[in-house]
Amino acid sequence: MRIDKYISSCGVATRREAAAAAKRGLVCVNGKIVRDLSAHINPNVDEVSYEGTLLVYRKYTYIMMNKPSGVVSSTDEPGDRTVMDLLDPELQRIGAFPCGRLDRDTTGLLLITNDGETAHRLLSPKKHAEKRYRFTVDLPLPRDAEERFLAGIVIDHDELCRPAKLECEPDRLGGTLILTEGKFHQVKRMIAALGSTVTSLCRLNFGPLSLDDTLEVGDWRLLREDEIALLPRPTNE
Ligand code: URA
Repeated sequence: MRIDKYISSCGVATRREAAAAAKRGLVCVNGKIVRDLSAHINPNVDEVSYEGTLLVYRKYTYIMMNKPSGVVSSTDEPGDRTVMDLLDPELQRIGAFPCGRLDRDTTGLLLITNDGETAHRLLSPKKHAEKRYRFTVDLPLPRDAEERFLAGIVIDHDELCRPAKLECEPDRLGGTLILTEGKFHQVKRMIAALGSTVTSLCRLNFGPLSLDDTLEVGDWRLLREDEIALLPRPTNE
């Protein structure tokens, strides 16, 4: 693999940034300064350091985005802006996709990755991964809303939801909701079943991941090593 590709795939710099750093003598391969990043290395054998830090090769890329309202959670939507358009051009070419969907007007935690198996494990209906949302509504939620959600509410006449944990604000015009499934527009439909309408929705947690509260809406970053370590692995690994 080319050295500049390797550095960018480790998420520490774009190829252009890596080239500039190499000119300043900040890229080493096996302890020797390299200035030509078109040379090839074997990521499993060669040790590359960037600005003094030894890089760890990762086959896959994991991106945490604080999704803004007004963009769709897909890779390609003709005539529409997608979450992928918010990424650096290099990260748009690695075969990544949003792991699950948030509605166009929903904000918050979205994982984008090119690791199909991990995405599958996080999204599998059998795994019941928790998703936590913060919401506001137009009309106060009824007093028994917590109980009804915990018992499993029926939406749209015949769709039974799994028990969900609701915590309301004192004015009952908002709160947090934890779901262990991902039906279409689920939060909005559950709230509608109680007679209110969702006025804002933000996902705070997705499986083992928590939204980084230093990420502005519309910003993204690569997952840290400690976050990657929390992702579900195959049971035989
Ligand atoms: N539930 C919804 O209604 N919308 C979302 O975007 C996510 C969960």
